[in-house]
Amino acid sequence: MPDTIKISTIIGARPQFIKAATVSRAISVHNAAIPRSVSGPLLHETIIHTGQHFDANMSEVFFRELEIPAPDYNLGIGGGSHGRNTGRMIEAIEDVLLKETPDWVLVYGDTDSTLAGALAAAKLHIPVAHVEAGLRSYNRAMPEEINRILTDQLSTILFCPTRTAEANLAKEGFPHRLSSDTVQQICNVGDVMYDAALFYAVKAEKHSRIMQTLGLTPKGFVLATIHRAENTDYPERLAAIMAALEQIAKEIPVVLPLHPRTRKCLENMGGACNDPQNSPVRFVDPVGYLDMVMLEKNARVIITDSGGVQKEAYFHGVPCVTVREETEWVELVEAGVNVLAGSDTQHVVQAFQQLINKFFVTDMLYGNGNSAEKIVDILNT
Ligand code: UDP
Repeated sequence: MPDTIKISTIIGARPQFIKAATVSRAISVHNAAIPRSVSGPLLHETIIHTGQHFDANMSEVFFRELEIPAPDYNLGIGGGSHGRNTGRMIEAIEDVLLKETPDWVLVYGDTDSTLAGALAAAKLHIPVAHVEAGLRSYNRAMPEEINRILTDQLSTILFCPTRTAEANLAKEGFPHRLSSDTVQQICNVGDVMYDAALFYAVKAEKHSRIMQTLGLTPKGFVLATIHRAENTDYPERLAAIMAALEQIAKEIPVVLPLHPRTRKCLENMGGACNDPQNSPVRFVDPVGYLDMVMLEKNARVIITDSGGVQKEAYFHGVPCVTVREETEWVELVEAGVNVLAGSDTQHVVQAFQQLINKFFVTDMLYGNGNSAEKIVDILNT
């Protein structure tokens, strides 16, 4: 067994910082335990930030709050189209991987950074481990769906967060043989975002002042986030969702931390966020993770098109209206705590009314909160 296993972690977007934070922490815990037990080699992690998200409140704040080691490389590739970004990332990641020669490349989720990292590594014959493998919306109009499908094909280890994800892979004929001596390994380890929600909730309670700053009362407001291209790129869909939020805001305050893309689209539409004083919806800048945890925990209902926020709503026992036609997190819909409302104004308002008095207890749909530890153990064997 080698003394050190080298892992290159590739991240670039907000949800990936949160997911990677949990694994980086588990790596540190593993390394700290080495002198006391002979449980395996040291793990050496190199962090490659593609630069996909670059605003301070979309990137830097997460490194600081979640105590993620500073990136060893920042490729500064963001702001372009999907094809342009992905191409430039592959080229730049290849250079780094040739220099670092890692034993594993670790990629997260479904962004252009995920696919670029997996492609660059696979072509260099470096094994790829994909955290959040097997998720499917079965809607290939989503850029994320293309990224997931291709990344799963290229990965040697597929870390699934749910049973549904495992079943999705089985339906597609996974595991595949990658070479004469390598067959893909599929491991349901649970969801690293659940680890993050449990771990950082304590820190959030202690450090976040967002409830006081925004003058909010527990269970006295709705939290909304909108950023998926399928909503932001279609003005009529975005306008219909905004109309629903405005209608709901007449009943209960609605807080909307605005993703930069959504802000740009709303500004182009000449929409309400150009005139925040007169909008019933409360627009705020994107918040850090600790503030987000507090907003999520205290919200009466969450309305979102985010994958991560749908799950976090569940982790914190808050019902969720999803403004999409489908979701990768189908178990939440089956459990009756998440309602898919699409973007129709009345459907969104009705779903909100259906859920406003819904109370439930969080179950173990996403593991036990030790997914990152399991990932580290598997990479280490
Ligand atoms: N998030 C955050 N601040 C915000 C909005 C979201 O910290 O203002 C966090 C949220 O708690 C979740 C993650 O960002 O952990 C979700 O990211 P996003 O919605 O951008 O992506 P998705 O999960 O849809 O891929």
